[in-house]
Amino acid sequence: AEGFLLQSEKLSIVGELAAGVAHEIRNPLTTIKGFVQLYKAENSSIVYNDLLLSELERIETITSELLSLGKPQAVQLNRANLRELIEKTLELLSPEALMKDIQFIQKFEEAAFFITCEKNQLKQVFLNVLKNAMEAMPDGGEITIELRKGAEGNCVISFQDQGCGIPEELLPRLGEPFYTLKEKGTGLGLMICKKIIKQHHGSITYQSKEKEGTLVEIKLPMVK
Ligand code: ADP
Ligand code: MG
Repeated sequence: AEGFLLQSEKLSIVGELAAGVAHEIRNPLTTIKGFVQLYKAENSSIVYNDLLLSELERIETITSELLSLGKPQAVQLNRANLRELIEKTLELLSPEALMKDIQFIQKFEEAAFFITCEKNQLKQVFLNVLKNAMEAMPDGGEITIELRKGAEGNCVISFQDQGCGIPEELLPRLGEPFYTLKEKGTGLGLMICKKIIKQHHGSITYQSKEKEGTLVEIKLPMVK
């Protein structure tokens, strides 16, 4: 049949291809970086070295993000307390938040919500979403993180920021590979989030108003 692919199929093909390419690039990159560092140590007067190194680091960031899309390495699903996962992620980001004058406001429903998940992958989703929120607020402000019971046996985690927002016409493009509005962005964060949340049978949605902020809602099925 002619090439009719679902968006999800496209994503998984792109993901596999990208991870494969990233894997091939990674090893020579590590070697080159090592030599540039060595060279820099021995010839400290050479200005271009810093440029070289920072460009190499950029390739490194992109390849490691692509690699994390990679072949599903035997996903270990475990029962986890969602609140704990969120709290750990917030802890990880708290030094950066402090530096950027950003406060995390936590509004967690009292009940404990348990889900079945790959903990590290879910933490990566929360990290990506929170990093985007922080990057949207260069002058600081509040990010409100809410955890509550939703409909149909789901729990809902929402992240509301007070950042620059996203123009309405661009909302449908979120999660497309390499779609970024940032000078130093990779446009891979949300694509990875979408993929992980889908693997966990959940959903992720964006609502945004320019110059007011963005609301990200993640829904995940609860377990007993
Ligand atoms: P990156 O952060 O590397 O640009 P992402 O996939 O994480 O890639 O995000 C894609 C784009 O979506 C960002 O460049 C930004 O324009 C937009 N975006 C995502 N989250 C937010 C947010 N909370 N506030 C404003 N813009 C956002
Ligand atoms: Mg990002």
